[in-house]
Amino acid sequence: MAEVEAVQIIAESLKQQGVEYVFGIIGIPVIELSMAFQAAGLKYIGMRNEQAACYAAQAIGYLTGKPGVCLVVSGPGLLHVTGGMANAQVNCWPLIVIGGATNQDHEGIGGFQECPQVELSRPYCKYAARPANAALIPLHVEKAVRYATYGRPGVAYLDFPGNILQSKAIESTIYKSVAHPVAPLAYPPHDDVIRAARLLRTAKRPLVIIGKGAAYAHAENTLRHFIENTNLPFLPTPMGKGVVSDTAAQCVASARTLALQKADVILLLGARLNWILHFGRPPRYDRDVKFIQVDICPEELNNSVVASVAVQSDIRPFAEQLFEQMNAVNFRFGYEQDWWKQLVAKCKQNRDTVAQMSLNTTTPLNYYAVFHHLRELLPRDTIIVSEGANTMDIGRSMLLNEQPRHRLDAGTFGTMGVGPGFAIAAALYCRDFAPGKRVLCVEGDSAFGFSGMEIETMVRYKLPITIVIVNNNGIYGGFDKDTFEAIRSEGDLAKITPPSALGVQVRYEEMMKMFGMKGYFCTEIEELQAAVKAANQLTDRPTIINVAISPSSDRKPQSFNWLTESKL
Ligand code: ADP
Repeated sequence: MAEVEAVQIIAESLKQQGVEYVFGIIGIPVIELSMAFQAAGLKYIGMRNEQAACYAAQAIGYLTGKPGVCLVVSGPGLLHVTGGMANAQVNCWPLIVIGGATNQDHEGIGGFQECPQVELSRPYCKYAARPANAALIPLHVEKAVRYATYGRPGVAYLDFPGNILQSKAIESTIYKSVAHPVAPLAYPPHDDVIRAARLLRTAKRPLVIIGKGAAYAHAENTLRHFIENTNLPFLPTPMGKGVVSDTAAQCVASARTLALQKADVILLLGARLNWILHFGRPPRYDRDVKFIQVDICPEELNNSVVASVAVQSDIRPFAEQLFEQMNAVNFRFGYEQDWWKQLVAKCKQNRDTVAQMSLNTTTPLNYYAVFHHLRELLPRDTIIVSEGANTMDIGRSMLLNEQPRHRLDAGTFGTMGVGPGFAIAAALYCRDFAPGKRVLCVEGDSAFGFSGMEIETMVRYKLPITIVIVNNNGIYGGFDKDTFEAIRSEGDLAKITPPSALGVQVRYEEMMKMFGMKGYFCTEIEELQAAVKAANQLTDRPTIINVAISPSSDRKPQSFNWLTESKL
């Protein structure tokens, strides 16, 4: 009777369910599994740190709509990856994690890297299981992929003890899974669409908020049509940027605070009223604001604020049907409306302030000058990966996105260290689906430190990623050389090195020399321009551009210190 190896069953089941990419770090007991993946035609990318592998796998899931797999070893391997699992689950991105586990004969008596992995994964998973034997593997793989992609996307974990991985199943006994269809679309109840249209039509100060749920839903064509024709002002969330272009006339990102605070009706499309949107509550919103909330996940509806119309639906069919209703009465929210006048004036005022800061190129440079000149030299369809505190926050408003799913950042969980993994996934995505498109990875010097060794992965797989490190010598703010030395000369080094300080003027770009390649150190705008132009020519390798900025450079003055505000 013909027998099939368990590792082959896993690989072929994943392939059958449409999985294409695996990111991981091998070791006992998953070495043979990684080989089986390659034999089955899955693309295996060996990374340097499990967290980064997990970030890459979830980013490919977000970009392609098909979950990537993260493969790790038992115990420490799985523990290292839990941060990545949490990040995917919190961001609602599809991901499959596969962990090797200690041999079941050794469980309870101190097996090698023994760890309660299924229990450990469960809080950050939609589905976590250990298949009982090799013959049942296809059932669990199908279920894992279905759970990861149906409804609100998320994480599935499959646990494979060494003895299961080394086992075989008689071919005729292997569970027969079918390749499941893509996730079915959820359509909105007609009455909800009518109520939403009625509310939106009567609004005096309407606002549309476009979240990353709309990006994941591929709702760009529908929403562009909707916004262009209704002329409603819209605000993208950080990763909702580009679903409708940041350059569209209706984008009021430059007047974000005013738009949120004064809107009387908000159409919320695939975004949660969490910390990113200030919970939908005063003082950041009008006390009487009415929400039309559209989300694929019914449990999310009415969270934090009770919506006036709460619709469980995929964004696309909802937006199509809403447009039909608005169009039936030739609705258009014209620029003569007082609300538009307020928004346009505020946008102009804020853009003028930023323009002033951008044009100040005295050294040491400030964030705005760096981002302004970076933007000028970037191809407009660049995929932008970004993390860091100020680097990410300021970069979000300065680096525009014209296309959907072209911004990947620290996201809902505020996770630092995601950048290099995300950039690797984005570069592979470009290579396979959008040749010629570039990937920019803008990192604070602190953020880069979390996963900097992935530069070797980028070199090994010949990925043309431009890493720009906006270097202020610290976490949040940093220290200039003289102050740093002065503090340290006063006494015991370990006691007085400030917690926020990182090395002063660290030459991160020199890491490229490890590979016989070139990096760039810039203190002036002309040097930055030359470096970006050179980086734009690279097709088979990454590079690092290390830009020294003023350690005290900061955001423009903000109306709210919102992240530390506790009173709601
Ligand atoms: P953002 O970070 O942009 O504010 P969130 O991650 O908070 O976005 O919210 C995204 C929301 O989108 C989640 O509540 C998720 O359930 C929802 N979502 C995901 N896919 C879809 C879809 N296809 N249609 C509608 N909603 C979706």
